[in-house]
Amino acid sequence: MIRNVVNLINPYDAGDFPEDISKRYKIPEADVIQLGSNENPYPPSEQVKEAYYDSLKKINRYPHPSYYELKNTLSDYLVIDSELITVGNGAGDILRYICDITVDTMDKVAIPVPSYTLYAIFAMMRDASISFIDFPGYEIKASEIPDSQLIFLCSPNNPVGTTIPRKEIIKILKNCSGYVIIDEAYSEFSGETNLDLVNKYDNLIIVRSFSKFFGLAGMRIGYAVGSSDIISAIEKTRPPFCISNVSQSVAIAAINSKDYYTGIKDKIISERERMVREIKTTDFAELYPSKANFILIKLKDGFDLRSFEKEGIIIRNVTGLMGLHGNHIRITIGEEDENNKIIEMLKQFNSI
Ligand code: PMP
Repeated sequence: MIRNVVNLINPYDAGDFPEDISKRYKIPEADVIQLGSNENPYPPSEQVKEAYYDSLKKINRYPHPSYYELKNTLSDYLVIDSELITVGNGAGDILRYICDITVDTMDKVAIPVPSYTLYAIFAMMRDASISFIDFPGYEIKASEIPDSQLIFLCSPNNPVGTTIPRKEIIKILKNCSGYVIIDEAYSEFSGETNLDLVNKYDNLIIVRSFSKFFGLAGMRIGYAVGSSDIISAIEKTRPPFCISNVSQSVAIAAINSKDYYTGIKDKIISERERMVREIKTTDFAELYPSKANFILIKLKDGFDLRSFEKEGIIIRNVTGLMGLHGNHIRITIGEEDENNKIIEMLKQFNSI
């Protein structure tokens, strides 16, 4: 028998993919603009491409299960002891490992919303007692978060784009008798991190991803930083070969070419600011301030959210997401011409 809780879970909604839009609207797949999943639209660095081809020599072999090469490179990048780092097949997998080692049946799990929907799925799979705390605009107040075995924070937050102020984070860490995850999947775009707090608070786990800043969503690489107790518990229980040889090699090459990715990040941020300026000139869209590579927009009623997909543009309709009230779309910042299309469409709607 499949466990009952599985029947209660709404599957994770990954949104539309180019093949879906292509079939639905007879648009060539290559013409579809992907602004729905907060991916990085730019190509990999030359170093990453070389590492990719070079790593093909090793695909008949298992990777070293400790992933010491990637951890050592991460250790230099983050200026954190490699013993405090673990790796996984994307940040998503790591979130699950953390639930596995920290949450027992009926343990309290707190999820401030709106936030990333995987947290609830993984907590449900542990039969946790989950509290969702509604913070409009994700303006977190530590005093409203109940003491819990596990608290999920997301900074910059998906889908809102804002970061959590340091003083609220410290209050939460101090008040929590269990563990606090800070999901920093988008950290590099914000220039903010809480990594330094790991040395001070044993109950903090920072989760990060190579899918966003380093543009490696298709390679599936994530990592976590935490106290040696937490990290060794994850290391003991995660699948031994959770990242491929190829993924490990390209992740290392990506870090070694971080200047290239910093240049891309600067372009994305200046495009984000341009979009914000343009969208603010319309009077039907309300914008949330973003420190990430996407923007959340609240739209007035009457806006047809399928208009974008009919034009071959994938954005994310997040209307109905717990903690969001009213019609909302989340748009990933793309390349200049892709962003121009979005601005043009929004302005057209504005003039109707
Ligand atoms: N956390 C957040 C906040 C995310 O938005 C995402 C991906 N959309 C993830 C984690 C998962 O990242 P990964 O691709 O590394 O599994």
